[in-house]
Amino acid sequence: MLNLSMFLEDSARKYPSRDALVLGEERLTYAETDALSNQIANLLVESGIEPGDRIAISCPNLPWFPIVYYGILKAGAVVVPLNILLKGSEIAYHLTDAGATAYFCFEGGPDLPIGKYGRAAFHEVPGCRTMFVIGADDTAGDERIAALSAVLPSQPTEFESAVREATDTAVILYTSGTTGRPKGAELTHANMAMNAIASNRLFDSTPGRPDTHLVTLPLFHSFGQTVNMNAGFAVGSTLVMLPRFDAGAALTIMERESITMFAGVPTMYWGLLGAVDDSVNVTRIADNLRRAISGGAALPVEILDRFADRFGVQILEAYGLSETSPIALFSDPERDPRPGSIGIPIWGVEVKLVDPDWNTIEGVDTVGEIAIRGHNIMKGYYGRPDATAESIQSGWFRTGDLARRDADGFYYIVDRAKDMIVRGGFNVYPREIEEVLITHPSVSLAAVIGVSDERYGEEIKAYVIPEPGAQITEPELIGWCKERMASYKYPRSVEFATALPMTATGKLLKRELSSASATAVGSGLGQ
Ligand code: ADP
Repeated sequence: MLNLSMFLEDSARKYPSRDALVLGEERLTYAETDALSNQIANLLVESGIEPGDRIAISCPNLPWFPIVYYGILKAGAVVVPLNILLKGSEIAYHLTDAGATAYFCFEGGPDLPIGKYGRAAFHEVPGCRTMFVIGADDTAGDERIAALSAVLPSQPTEFESAVREATDTAVILYTSGTTGRPKGAELTHANMAMNAIASNRLFDSTPGRPDTHLVTLPLFHSFGQTVNMNAGFAVGSTLVMLPRFDAGAALTIMERESITMFAGVPTMYWGLLGAVDDSVNVTRIADNLRRAISGGAALPVEILDRFADRFGVQILEAYGLSETSPIALFSDPERDPRPGSIGIPIWGVEVKLVDPDWNTIEGVDTVGEIAIRGHNIMKGYYGRPDATAESIQSGWFRTGDLARRDADGFYYIVDRAKDMIVRGGFNVYPREIEEVLITHPSVSLAAVIGVSDERYGEEIKAYVIPEPGAQITEPELIGWCKERMASYKYPRSVEFATALPMTATGKLLKRELSSASATAVGSGLGQ
């Protein structure tokens, strides 16, 4: 038997007085976190929740996220974390699709009105019987909705966790889904536990050498959930939470809390580099920072080099998907770093490259789609046997990402298959062009997409955020690329933007770039 909640329980037994969670001035020890989590489990049992029931949660990076997450697991139920940016009807879709019977939702405020959207969704889904609002006192007289602060304190602080098997589902993670509606990847207790343990081996994190994490990746997403939360709790590390990524605030916390471990998507590294000014004590941050991990999207080599220069730490790359718990490949800490590479398969995981008919592609530097097999592969897409059968065959899961392998077995992401541009019959990989654009001294960040074109089918277009104060023109940048790459590849148009659209995780949203002008999309990260 195996229950992922053991990570919290075990550390609470061994290090009860160690800080588990920090948010601003608020600090919770492992013993306090475990006691609150036990209260959540008792509350769920009292509400009639049974092992295997699906319980959704919409909550930013606050101590409540791990408390509720492990509480649900302790009760034997399945956690369904939802993206905090979803609106009412989207939340209702997820509650229905997962068959959630209870829902924890943060109240939020004017800038993040999750509570408002959550209540509207809850009323649309009759199968979801109970809603617990985090951070609200008033539930407007609806008897199916309870304020957590009103119903939690009376619950006992002891709980004996439900028995679960390694193959039982622990978490359902919804993938953003570029085609069709989002699908829920069903991850088992074994999937999630093994990935956290394997991560700690790679980070060299042990109970004797716990870390202080800066947690700014959203915990509803697989990357932060495994790398920060489950891996951190497994060895008694301290999680310092930052609910909304802000590079300046992140640097301040890194200095104040002596952060040793930072995991982020590439745009966060880009943000940190841009926010360094005279008020930041870079030496102090660099003295403490032991590990910097990037994942979720391709890390431009330029950013990797600049970060190593500034902070004295070589960023290690992780690659994976929600469906793979998520880490599948990782820089090999024992060998020289290979900039631009996502490394080698992690312990217990096999990787191969395949063609569209699942035939294995051999050979050095030949491009194929990454397929993965091992302890990290999800059970399947919840309630979607057809989609599961399409993506998993004989245990191998196909990722939709194109890569090549060098003579030493290191993998390099070429691009997402769906982002590939076909211009006049030639395959063009946006990542390659972005890497060239970003080396221009006046370019801060670049995103390349294909736009429809009468003559070539698709034409190459770049969106560029210039360095602050830089004077740069479209012809100059086109010329820069033309000099450095084959003529079928260089961008034919460049649009300057102050911000680019991002997902809640901080990944560039290329889908939105193709349908709207970057500047008009607005809400993204910019300078
Ligand atoms: P979402 O689409 O919601 O972000 P995932 O988090 O599962 O869903 O994203 C997985 C995708 O992220 C992968 O298929 C891949 O395209 C991309 N990705 C993850 N890690 C890397 C990496 N190190 N380099 C390049 N791309 C990556």
